[in-house]
Amino acid sequence: MKDIIVDDFQDTVNDVLFRHKSIVDVMTKLQESDARLNRAIAKAVTICGCIKINAQKQDFPEDMDLEQACQFTSSHIEGELCDDCKEVINQEMQNHLFYLAALCNLLDINLYDNMLEEYDKLNTLGTYNLL
Ligand SMILES: [Zn+2]
Repeated sequence: MKDIIVDDFQDTVNDVLFRHKSIVDVMTKLQESDARLNRAIAKAVTICGCIKINAQKQDFPEDMDLEQACQFTSSHIEGELCDDCKEVINQEMQNHLFYLAALCNLLDINLYDNMLEEYDKLNTLGTYNLL
């Protein structure tokens, strides 16, 4: 069922993408959408203030195994997104997904198959995938 949704999404992106059909346009629009997504997150911190970023070095004993170490790591996010910021970030993520699907179309890559391959890799390798 989900594969049909992802495939339909990719097909729909292909149908509506006529203005930016060039790989150059899609590459730069994807990069732009990534920057806009990061900007939306930064604005949640610096303009709205619903979340804060409190980052420092992630310290844990070297003899600790990876699964234990994961329990000591932090997202460095304090607070929760307000509805307005969440809506803006959602929109920017959707825009980013649009251009990612567009890139897949131009390079003849199936987005669902790609996600499934990564999903399988994550399940097989687990936390060791992060090394
Ligand atoms: Zn906010």
